[in-house]
Amino acid sequence: MVEFRPKYITIRNVVGSSKVSPNPPYPFTGWIRYWEATYREIHDFSTPIRPEYTCPFCNTSKPTSDIVGGHVQKVDDDDKSWYIFPICSGCNKDNDKETQIPYESLDLLIPVPSNLIESEEDEDKEE
Ligand SMILES: [Zn+2]
Repeated sequence: MVEFRPKYITIRNVVGSSKVSPNPPYPFTGWIRYWEATYREIHDFSTPIRPEYTCPFCNTSKPTSDIVGGHVQKVDDDDKSWYIFPICSGCNKDNDKETQIPYESLDLLIPVPSNLIESEEDEDKEE
């Protein structure tokens, strides 16, 4: 089946995710550690966040220590799953921010285990 592949996809930092999904899977001490471990499993121990990483929300290069695992959703997509995506700590506080990432960066989206989302998702709020 041939599908139209956009060059970029839009992702949004999920509002209120820290309340609904505060804790990464045991034994990880932060979502970014879970994210990196999972990414390395898939990509043969490579990691794009060391020693620094360009946050796609602010387009700024930051040291790894400034990178956190943000909860994001795809915008304009039937897939409403939550994913962990590396973003800088400043942008992680700025909920509901959107940005475009190249289609090739889709593999940076690591799914949040659904058993770690504590309540139903908020309904989509359209502007
Ligand atoms: Zn940023």
